[in-house]
Amino acid sequence: MRSWNFTAGPCTLPLEVMEKAQREFLDYEGMGAGVIEISHRSPQFDAVAKGSEKRLRSLMDIPDNYKVIFLQSGGRGEFAAVPLNLMPEGGLADYFVTGHWSRCAYKECDERFGRAVLHECAPKDASGIVSIDYSKMQVTPGASYAYICFNETVNGIEFNKIPDTGDVPLVADMSSDILTQKVDVSKFGAIIFGVQKNVAPAGLVIAIVREDLIGHARKYCPSILDWKVMSEHDSLFNTPCVFSWYMADLVFRWIESIGGVAELERRNAEKSKLLYDFIDSSDFYRNNIAKDSRSRVNVVFNLKDEALNAEFLKEAAARHFIGLKGHKVLGGMRASLYNAMSIEGVKALIEFLRDFERAHA
Ligand SMILES: *Cc1c(COP(=O)(O)O)cnc(C)c1O
Repeated sequence: MRSWNFTAGPCTLPLEVMEKAQREFLDYEGMGAGVIEISHRSPQFDAVAKGSEKRLRSLMDIPDNYKVIFLQSGGRGEFAAVPLNLMPEGGLADYFVTGHWSRCAYKECDERFGRAVLHECAPKDASGIVSIDYSKMQVTPGASYAYICFNETVNGIEFNKIPDTGDVPLVADMSSDILTQKVDVSKFGAIIFGVQKNVAPAGLVIAIVREDLIGHARKYCPSILDWKVMSEHDSLFNTPCVFSWYMADLVFRWIESIGGVAELERRNAEKSKLLYDFIDSSDFYRNNIAKDSRSRVNVVFNLKDEALNAEFLKEAAARHFIGLKGHKVLGGMRASLYNAMSIEGVKALIEFLRDFERAHA
């Protein structure tokens, strides 16, 4: 049987998509070969590449003056690509840090590429509640860009509005909440996301970049991280991760088939509300993120008695719940409610949480 999979990434993918990939695995479009066994320059793969970009553009309403670039660098590779493409030698950039991944991006820039101005934007109040403080997001004169992580996968913190950075291009890592709600792309200079949270198996990163920001990479920026080189070659400068790209296309088709991003936004609001309402109603579990800063996709929570953690995970596994252990830097528990997680899965989890509380409170 399939488990209820709450893993943070790589993670659960829509069952229909997994089944279609399985059916096509050995014989793609009657070729007698799988899509991962053919040239990335074949007409069959070309249709995947072009079709997936077209679908993503339509799903996200991406304006014409933005390029969509398919890269293989991983999320962390883009932490380097951002300063290499956008910040000249000797320049500076603002980092509005709200958790683990924005801090990693800040460090990558600061330690290797130039002056990164650190703004701590997710303070804890006296009672231990964490919230995003938008008033701290002030740009520094001369900044090449301002950087945010829209949803902090590890910390369970998500932006609920887009900060205004004036003429300074806003760069957002949306690895874990891309396509989970409608986003006005025109408010951003660049959006980057690894596909392994909501879109496809690991292996691909997609960069959506405003055209005027392309073409300013440092001379020594590796070609495969240079957004201009990659976009000029339609992201086929070198062999791409064909499997991940093909799966992304299947997921985009799946999103179209269920009613687009608006429908996913509705489902994600419903799923996360159910789980947070339950946690808030219980004395046994707790979440310390302010309501207006809580992630709709990564719900972090703790058992009030942490000594029960191991038993909790053991009983969860026995009932086919996997991936509930929190990230190693934070501990506790985390339930990731990505697009492929159904409302039934969330209801089943709440039932388990209730049963466990009854047995151990
Ligand atoms: C998972 C994740 C990353 C890390 O991506 P890698 O591909 O492992 O380098 C970066 N940012 C966010 C928001 C993530 O959730």
